[in-house]
Amino acid sequence: MTTAATDTPDDLFQDALKNLDEAFAYAEIHPEALERLRHPRTSIEVSIPVRMDSGEIRVFTGYRVRHDDTRGPGKGGIRFHPKVDIAEVKALAFWMTCKCAVMSLPFGGAKGGIEVDPKELSKLELERLSRRFIQRIADFIGPDVDVPAPDVYTNPMIMGWMMDEYSKITRHHTPAVITGKPIPLGGSLGRNEATGRGAYFCIKEHELHRGWDPKTTTVAIQGFGNAGQAVAQLLHADGYQIVAVSDSKGGIHRKEGFHIPSLIQAKNDSHRLQAVYCQNGLCTLMEAQSISNQELLELDVDILIPAALENVITSANADKIKARTLVEVANGPVSTDASPILRENDVYVIPDILANAGGVTVSYFEWVQNKAGFYWTEEEVNQRLLEKMRTEFHNVYDLSQIHDIDMRTAAYVLALKRIGAALTAQGTKDYFEAQQP
Ligand code: GLU
Repeated sequence: MTTAATDTPDDLFQDALKNLDEAFAYAEIHPEALERLRHPRTSIEVSIPVRMDSGEIRVFTGYRVRHDDTRGPGKGGIRFHPKVDIAEVKALAFWMTCKCAVMSLPFGGAKGGIEVDPKELSKLELERLSRRFIQRIADFIGPDVDVPAPDVYTNPMIMGWMMDEYSKITRHHTPAVITGKPIPLGGSLGRNEATGRGAYFCIKEHELHRGWDPKTTTVAIQGFGNAGQAVAQLLHADGYQIVAVSDSKGGIHRKEGFHIPSLIQAKNDSHRLQAVYCQNGLCTLMEAQSISNQELLELDVDILIPAALENVITSANADKIKARTLVEVANGPVSTDASPILRENDVYVIPDILANAGGVTVSYFEWVQNKAGFYWTEEEVNQRLLEKMRTEFHNVYDLSQIHDIDMRTAAYVLALKRIGAALTAQGTKDYFEAQQP
């Protein structure tokens, strides 16, 4: 993973909540709604003992936070990462509440995580850890309660184990308890690339405003995991010049751009990011400059896509960002004190709760298909995703124009309006006072 700048906020959740205050001024909702969103509904911490291949027991710590479920069951991924902590999981759950509201999905927000470096575990250890975590949280999740999904360093296979474990515990085959599953276990076509595809659709809408020619538009991508690869692939196929990419170990830069399918093939074959060009199974090394993750963020490109972890752009480096457009494919890559600096410097930010919402949107489609027992073609999934992304991109954009605010604030205004309406429908102080004799 990338190294964060030094002045990252101590409590990610409290920092994330600051976005609400700015948006509240435009949302026209009851202040009670804001108060409700400051407090996650349920947070649990569990210990997960796992028998390692050596025969020893290791105890891991896991979390599941349901931030809000006013608009529907909690929804959000589970990440495996050594730096997971409760404040981070609360922030991620809060972002899910806002993201599902921005996309008008019938879900609230949730998130989970296990403090573990999955690269140190064997496949069998990983399976035992995944199943044990579900044993610990089974009472807190369910298709109509809280529906997990993949996140950083988790994948369809892990989702499949988790769904299987939940089904064993409840003695009911329950595919709708988890999304992002392998296709043969009830996963949805198109889910794996959905986060990247959603971001790509946002860039295409923005392209109309900017009048860009993809062939002369340069892109740098920080993070070359599932979402980073998918957005790189789609942009490359469209003619965009991807001139820099990086992973947790560092990055590569080439002014003429990379052939993305070759990079993906080489990375997946060797687990290393290499500047290569592959043809007929043969890969040859290309000239490219090695750069650090920090250097990549500061490159003079048209579009910068952080697609790894939170807080990689903070007040320490925001002033050095030269890209004109920043598309947040990671959750929370920009700290709240960095946002005004970017705004001042005219960096146009397409915020995470919109730009990376393609993943949870196709998770919603997967949940619908599981519940209906009726499956869609990949074309249907992608077409429905396109319609959703377009509609909500324009709803956010229109709010940003009406109030003369940036896209991030506008996205929170839209989320607050929808969550506020649901909370108001349950009754506010004014309503109950009016009932007094
Ligand atoms: N982990 C993804 C996110 O942060 C997907 C969540 C989901 O599909 O529920 O949006």
